[in-house]
Amino acid sequence: MWSLPLLRHTDVPPRVTENFILSGYRFPNYSLRQCLASAFRPTNETGNFWTHFLPIFIFAFHFQEVFGWEGVPAPSDPFFYPYWNYLLGVCCLLLASSLAHLLNSMSLIIREICFFVDYGTISSYTVGSSLAYYYYIHPRAGLPPLGGGFGAQNESRPGLKGEVEEESSSSLTSSAWFWLPEFKVFFDSFYIPSSCLVAIICVLACCNTRQRWRTYRYAIRTLVFLLPFFISSTPIFYRLLSPCPYPSDSSSSAAADTTAHYFYRHCFWLVVSALFNISKVPERLCPGVFDIWGHSHQWFHCCTFLSILDELHMIKAEVRALVLHPTLVLPPAVPTPLPGPALLTTYGVMVVLQVCIASVIAWFSWGASLTYTQEQKQLKQH
Ligand SMILES: [Zn+2]
Repeated sequence: MWSLPLLRHTDVPPRVTENFILSGYRFPNYSLRQCLASAFRPTNETGNFWTHFLPIFIFAFHFQEVFGWEGVPAPSDPFFYPYWNYLLGVCCLLLASSLAHLLNSMSLIIREICFFVDYGTISSYTVGSSLAYYYYIHPRAGLPPLGGGFGAQNESRPGLKGEVEEESSSSLTSSAWFWLPEFKVFFDSFYIPSSCLVAIICVLACCNTRQRWRTYRYAIRTLVFLLPFFISSTPIFYRLLSPCPYPSDSSSSAAADTTAHYFYRHCFWLVVSALFNISKVPERLCPGVFDIWGHSHQWFHCCTFLSILDELHMIKAEVRALVLHPTLVLPPAVPTPLPGPALLTTYGVMVVLQVCIASVIAWFSWGASLTYTQEQKQLKQH
């Protein structure tokens, strides 16, 4: 199992080679067991696997901290539906990405399917983020009216109840929060649907780069994923450009103050990861030197994870601000708060999206199997 030789770029099908990576290749005829074992062997995919597999545990650790905060609803409360969907999006992305790198040497067809699934999970992650932004950072974000499960919980916690009530009454005098009607229609009706639509367009475009537009594939894939970023981040742009919705001296305001800091850092890591992905530095500068460790895709993985981690910190800050201030006061022009998360508007959205993405992946996989079946047979005979 361990004795299968690693190959140079001239010894594997051109389809398998990466620019400026000269050695460390696995021939695309590994068994599942050999692929799994190669995680513990220095190939040019080993670092790609671990740089997205280990972060799953780091993310899960930071994710669960919220449930230990005093006064938060139970993890099964509808308030946390978007938060769980965000977890699903991130974990599917990290797991699919790491497994795609590990299992792609089983055959040319499986290699294609692995990366189609990888693109699909990146897209569904962006919708998971949008759901979290919509319910926790949306200009009208707020918990459902008190009296439900969460309100009842607060009442059983005298300390928190006192703090919340104090902030609610002081916010009645706050005039810092305003609402721009021109954004109302977009946020209310188009934000989540357009996030889903853009996610599906991204999967279509990225899958296409594996069959055509090969020359500019890294640039296209990077640019294609900037589009959902701009759509899904609109609640944050709005938040950054408008006054804080919480009274300036409140605990909620202090919690929400960190949002901008985490968002800028989230953007910084995204830009750095895009630069690594497009430039292919450092292997471009010294082809052959970074074949196993330190090539651009590993740095790309590290930077994307750091951006996700900052996004999580930002969402947690907003969750904290909401928990400390559940009756967000709205201007008179907007009498009703945003409806609270429901199964259909969180998990339902994700399920419909997954079905659409799975259909796109199945379509492209069918095309790949027609293209590569003959070539794969020739490889086996060879
Ligand atoms: Zn990758």
